[in-house]
Amino acid sequence: MSVAKRFIATTKMRHNANRHVAIIGGGIGGLTAALAFAKSGAEVTVYEQAPALTEVGAGLQITPNGMRALYALGLEPKISEKGIVAQAVVPTDAISGRAIARFDLGRQRPPYRFFHRAELIDLLWNACAANGVQVKLGARISEIASNGSFQCDQQTISADLTIGADGVRSVARTVLNGASDPFFTGQVAWRATVPVKDAEPVATIWMAPGRHMVTYPLEGGRLNIVAVQERSQWAQEGWHHADDPGNLRHVFADCHWRLKSILSDVETVNLWGLFRHPVAPKWYQGSLAILGDAAHPTLPFLAQGANLAIEDAFELAQFCDNDADIENALSAYQDARKPRVTRAINAANANAKNYHLRGLKRYVAHAGLRGMARVAPDAFIGRLGWLYDYDVADIHR
Ligand SMILES: Cc1cc2nc3c(=O)[nH]c(=O)nc-3n(C[C@H](O)[C@H](O)[C@H](O)COP(=O)(O)OP(=O)(O)OC[C@H]3O[C@@H](n4cnc5c(N)ncnc54)[C@H](O)[C@@H]3O)c2cc1C
Repeated sequence: MSVAKRFIATTKMRHNANRHVAIIGGGIGGLTAALAFAKSGAEVTVYEQAPALTEVGAGLQITPNGMRALYALGLEPKISEKGIVAQAVVPTDAISGRAIARFDLGRQRPPYRFFHRAELIDLLWNACAANGVQVKLGARISEIASNGSFQCDQQTISADLTIGADGVRSVARTVLNGASDPFFTGQVAWRATVPVKDAEPVATIWMAPGRHMVTYPLEGGRLNIVAVQERSQWAQEGWHHADDPGNLRHVFADCHWRLKSILSDVETVNLWGLFRHPVAPKWYQGSLAILGDAAHPTLPFLAQGANLAIEDAFELAQFCDNDADIENALSAYQDARKPRVTRAINAANANAKNYHLRGLKRYVAHAGLRGMARVAPDAFIGRLGWLYDYDVADIHR
């Protein structure tokens, strides 16, 4: 950083000190926002509907862009003790069992890691508690006024800033953008873990016509499985439910024995209908703002939903800290974040198509991947430079 830039940075006014910030939702986005605001001096309370801070589902890939925001919040020492550093992504033909290519992730800095979701929530929560964040559990917020105030335990909460980090069924999103049901994306996902010994620290993408499965190891000798199938309908009540592992095995029954042997170890599995909204047109109004899945739910095919929520949270706190006028800050936040998350969501949608190709297109795409691995092995990950190299901390320095 130049001397002039450093001088401006050190003499910049800080505005979060003594602001009261109310955050609805204690998921990864909400807790990261809580930590970012608390670290910049705000008084923060998180309102979470669940009786405990936990996460459904086992694994989570945190990519370098998300990791930089977590480091900038001082979490590097704790994070470095957790998770597994990813070494490569290995697109594999699920039918023949042959690896099509191997693209290096081991040189990514900060490292790309595989985490237990609950572990990341714990880590964020401990850091929040150490920075004075209050959490109200069992606090389902069912209505929010247009000025951002809401009721909790028969009290009206009117904060300087209310943040809706309340996920894909966000109440805050509805206040800002009107009611709309999330739409079914035509994909369902099973999530499970199985025991594994000495698994290579790589993400394997098993691609089959109309389906794919991603596996990667987690600490404690487990292999995380996310298996996706195209379906025309989601007829189940609710968003996810326990499924019979036999249904999962049946969908991949024509695949290679290595894949089937992983699935043969599945004892319990959850099935999700993958739902989405378009990116919300409006992310703020007055002193109410939204972030993460509340603003822009994405398909999980680029492993970015949580990473983008983490980036949003960090940037939102920074824009607010830099501006005495909350509405100006929120406008800058929306302008900065929307193009980036839209690009990431489009890239995730494209992956869904590429993983599930059929017939000749599938053959050609696999040949293309093989060629890329031989001729330009860094190009596969390199084309995601705009995503992984993004440094929230540098932008706000
Ligand atoms: C199969 C699958 C695999 C994925 N893998 C990855 C991955 O590897 N990497 C990645 O970056 N992303 C991944 N994602 C996406 C990621 O899980 C989400 O994008 C991320 O959790 C969004 O975080 P959030 O905090 O915005 O919302 P959420 O995690 O949904 O948190 C919202 C919180 O708000 C609470 N809440 C909701 N409504 C209310 C209310 N009215 N009052 C109070 N509290 C409320 C909820 O209980 C919850 O705790 C995956 C998703 C799926 C489905």
